[in-house]
Amino acid sequence: MTDSRPTLVLVYQRTSLPWIFESAERAGIDLVLVPRPDEDVPADRLPPAVVGLLVLDLDGDRADALETLRKRHETQPFQGLVTLYDPAVPFVAEAAERLGLPGIGCEAAFGAQDKRVMRERLAAAGLNVPRFARLDKPGDLATAKDLSFPVVVKPAHGFSSLGVTRAETAESLENVVAEVRQVCANKLGHVAALVVEEYLDGPELAVESLARDGAVQVLSIGYKGEPEGPYFEESVYRAPAELPDAIRDAVVHEVIAAHTALGITEGPTHTELRLRGGAEPYLLEMGARIGGSGVSQYIASHVTGVDFAGEALRIAAGLEPANRLVEGLTASVGAAANYIVPCGGHGRIATIHGLDEVRADPRVDHVVQMLFPGDVVRPYPDFTGYPAFVLSRHRTVAEAEEFHAYLERTIRIDYIPEEDAS
Ligand code: ADP
Repeated sequence: MTDSRPTLVLVYQRTSLPWIFESAERAGIDLVLVPRPDEDVPADRLPPAVVGLLVLDLDGDRADALETLRKRHETQPFQGLVTLYDPAVPFVAEAAERLGLPGIGCEAAFGAQDKRVMRERLAAAGLNVPRFARLDKPGDLATAKDLSFPVVVKPAHGFSSLGVTRAETAESLENVVAEVRQVCANKLGHVAALVVEEYLDGPELAVESLARDGAVQVLSIGYKGEPEGPYFEESVYRAPAELPDAIRDAVVHEVIAAHTALGITEGPTHTELRLRGGAEPYLLEMGARIGGSGVSQYIASHVTGVDFAGEALRIAAGLEPANRLVEGLTASVGAAANYIVPCGGHGRIATIHGLDEVRADPRVDHVVQMLFPGDVVRPYPDFTGYPAFVLSRHRTVAEAEEFHAYLERTIRIDYIPEEDAS
């Protein structure tokens, strides 16, 4: 073999989100892309750094997918595997473990992916955890009714806020649980295990970190709004969040300690937490991956100047990161933001106003459009998807906030009522 470039298998990455591909290209790493089952990737129009496609069906036949990877590795060796898609994290960890490649290991992947296990591990390490109940067997509902209300009901293996619903009272809990089960059955195709936990008020934060040999560099802490439910649609992400020093230190401390508690010692993480009562950090979840299908790369790299995904890919390939990892919070050099265009209604999309004007704005690097005129948006709690992301760069986070107020005024979706969409 003449080509000595490292190769990674990238599992279930959407090609419309470019950042991970661009980072691979900059890092000199080739990618073999495992396309998402719902995405058709033409072999003659591959994203940057992608040298080939490998079709695997993780849900349909996991054993076969693992065997296909083993054979591929035997004939065309690769140096590691990576995914930004949360449900694929345990698969990637298992495949890496079996092939003797770098990874976080099955145990850590399992803990980061199952919200029940994650809560138990964080609580055992003495970290802040809301009171919670598992809904595994009959009788568990009675335990859940003893929690302080409001509570949040969610699938144990959920992602993208799928089914996550607030319940106001013990009396309404049963109905909310039934509704969440229904959403999961429709979207995931199976009955999901559920968790009920006390509602955490306060601002929501997203934290992007990189671990190496157990040391954790916190690249950025961003503000994610203050969603109150009952359904938790994502709205904004602006970094760096403006926080008093003591709170920022507490966030960094909680996030680093959570890596230790969950055993995540290598690679990127995306942590979501809320500042309960405006001050005390409580983890909602920690994903052992780059967040937002790569949006976290855009944010963290512009806030710090560090190529977050490039470093993550190097670690996944068993290479040294380009920069020495420094434990603690990295100083910020600018501000970056993502505005998630709200559906703002339901029905068949007639027109999306304002996107062309926004695309031409010098502060905007990317408008990633996912819904188009003609698409049908179903009403909540059914989740159709987000219409578009607007990714922008600013000198300060105050300017990013102003910009988002402008986007709120500028982008609007008109719908044609659909009988079957209501
Ligand atoms: P997912 O993995 O599906 O995104 P999360 O647990 O991250 O599920 O929940 C999605 C969103 O729901 C969070 O970003 C947050 O806004 C809200 N949420 C979830 N749990 C709670 C809670 N206990 N208190 C307050 N808000 C919550």
